[in-house]
Amino acid sequence: MDERLGLEDLITAIRESGGRVTSAKRAVAATLADARDHLSADEITRRVQIGQPDVSPSTVYRILEELESLGVVVHSHVGHAAAVYHVVGPAHGHLVCSRCGVTTEIAARAFDGLSRDLRHHYGFELDRHHVALAGLCRQCREMVKDL
Ligand SMILES: [Zn+2]
Ligand SMILES: [Zn+2]
Ligand SMILES: [Zn+2]
Repeated sequence: MDERLGLEDLITAIRESGGRVTSAKRAVAATLADARDHLSADEITRRVQIGQPDVSPSTVYRILEELESLGVVVHSHVGHAAAVYHVVGPAHGHLVCSRCGVTTEIAARAFDGLSRDLRHHYGFELDRHHVALAGLCRQCREMVKDL
């Protein structure tokens, strides 16, 4: 997938699956489509509730599950915090700094060598996006070095 999906792609996916497009679903889809960063379910709920205060967190969870099962939204685990969600777009991986918590997106091809080795030696298919790689970011490395 080279292009990031937009709001209409999400709405179309719901319709094509025979699902009803409720105002809560539309709000969750719009929040995800507009987000430039990765949002936790709580953060999505907060944003949805600005316009629709009566949408509950459990409704948002159910909608996220539906969108994931339709293959238009993915989640990822970045550090110890709650899973984050975003619309399907260009393949990428995440680096998360264990010290300051900053997340960096990297191109999926950065994993090409590792991915090939894992498939070859272990018959293992790497999921590049689902879990972030932990480590120290450049800034934190420089701080640690100076201590
Ligand atoms: Zn997961
Ligand atoms: Zn991501
Ligand atoms: Zn850092």
